Amino acid sequence: MGSLPARSIDTPLPLRILIIGAGISGLGLSIRLRQYAPCATITILEKNAEVGGTWFENRYPGVACDIPSHVYQYTFEPNTQWSRFFSPGEEILEYVKGVARKYRVRELVEFGKVVRGCVWDGGGASGLCVWGRWALGKKRRGRSRGGLMLWLTVRALIGVGSSAIQVLPHLQRKCKDVYHFARGGTWISEPFGGAATQDSIAGDKDSGNYEERGKFKDDLEYYWKYRKHIERFINLDHPCLFPGTESAISGKEGIMQNMKKKLAGKPEIYEALEPKWSPGCRRLTPGPGFLEALVKDNVHFSRMKIVGVSKNEILLENGTRRKVDAIICATGFDTSFLPRFPIEGHNGTLLSEQWKDTASSYLSLATPNFPNLFTVGGPNSATGGGSLLIIFESIIGYVAKCVQKMSREHVCRMEVKAEALRAWEEYMEAYFPTTVHVEACTSWYKAGKKDNRVVGLWPGSSLHARKTLEHPRWEDWDFRYGREMEGSVG
Ligand SMILES: Cc1cc2nc3c(=O)[nH]c(=O)nc-3n(C[C@H](O)[C@H](O)[C@H](O)COP(=O)(O)OP(=O)(O)OC[C@H]3O[C@@H](n4cnc5c(N)ncnc54)[C@H](O)[C@@H]3O)c2cc1C
Repeated sequence: MGSLPARSIDTPLPLRILIIGAGISGLGLSIRLRQYAPCATITILEKNAEVGGTWFENRYPGVACDIPSHVYQYTFEPNTQWSRFFSPGEEILEYVKGVARKYRVRELVEFGKVVRGCVWDGGGASGLCVWGRWALGKKRRGRSRGGLMLWLTVRALIGVGSSAIQVLPHLQRKCKDVYHFARGGTWISEPFGGAATQDSIAGDKDSGNYEERGKFKDDLEYYWKYRKHIERFINLDHPCLFPGTESAISGKEGIMQNMKKKLAGKPEIYEALEPKWSPGCRRLTPGPGFLEALVKDNVHFSRMKIVGVSKNEILLENGTRRKVDAIICATGFDTSFLPRFPIEGHNGTLLSEQWKDTASSYLSLATPNFPNLFTVGGPNSATGGGSLLIIFESIIGYVAKCVQKMSREHVCRMEVKAEALRAWEEYMEAYFPTTVHVEACTSWYKAGKKDNRVVGLWPGSSLHARKTLEHPRWEDWDFRYGREMEGSVG
């Protein structure tokens, strides 16, 4: 005969939760977890000296979001006073810091702590697990970045991705000459959000300025409708990603005409930039002021390959040497999804080994062999044409529900089933070949080595992600229950 548990039905399991990183995701997750599992003890380890992640680390001239700010913010914490339609990085950082203060999650952060590894050391192969936990390697570290940049007169800018596109207009205004080298072509679209965005920034298209701030502050309902309006237009762009459709054809035509018009002064740049693949194959790069800067007399654009760099000089493949004062490499990030530190699951499985061909997680957030480990911003979590935060918040919501279940039902270990991941992969294998993403472009969406698989993007629209993540399918998970949670992380 079984014995009755020595606790009341609503006594929660006192979980100890560790979040790595105090960027927008980590902070958002901690806010939600406090609501969904109020008895959990939460610690956030952050290697930097400040919250904000991306927006703390990226300080190049012109750094900004390229999604309208009114959409690039937490849904639950609307800021009516964004200074610009595409707000500068500094302002986004201040917003994130403000949210962390307001929700008192800053006090959960241990700054200057670098996680060096995670090892699953809880649970057994069978039977009840009494306690499942992750042990961490961590190290204290000071701030690692330098601050100010010295403005010089002649610069060389390498790359034609999102960062280069933001940097160029600033360099063009401040430098005597700018040499801009781009290896590949790219589509430069109008800002995301189509007609809604165009209407908002009609008065100042180059810099994305807008004038409605006063109205937003006084009429929150109007602001809410405005946000929905912009978001709706961004969502309407999704059908452009399916080749041969009317949206894809007219979308491409619109981008081509816009580029040709703005580059009319230097038509050879349009010829050099026009890619063979469809818009959206790699991330579309709307850049207010970029095309306008390219045609200015002090900007010298080239597709010439750089074969060497020495002090104050770059060497081109045709033997030309170009003297410069500074070189800016806007050549992108490591987007392989391979973990930056060892993560060891049960039976000694290393995540880097499991993902050696392609990173792959169930709904982007959980991986078989790694119980109680959730990722925000994992493989297949991004959107190509809207705010990442919409999907990230949905993932956070899903994870919060998992943690709530663990706490309420005394689940000490939950692990996604391998067959659930396989079903998700099959869905993606069927979905992506219907899109422009599988065309022959180089893109961080396709960081996987195997079969040119798309690992960056969610397989569907942001709305599809929201709907999918709204209600967890618990039958896709294995659960182990325990009477007590002991010990701690770290
Ligand atoms: C220049 C730039 C512009 C962008 N513009 C847009 C945009 O317009 N729209 C959009 O949707 N997205 C944009 N993005 C994407 C942006 O990164 C995400 O929208 C979002 O900020 C990611 O937040 P995060 O918290 O998931 O990750 P991050 O901001 O990268 O935060 C991760 C945190 O984890 C910490 N960390 C990492 N490793 C460790 C470790 N081992 N130990 C301890 N701490 C660790 C880091 O220090 C960091 O604070 C942009 C990105 C860049 C780089």
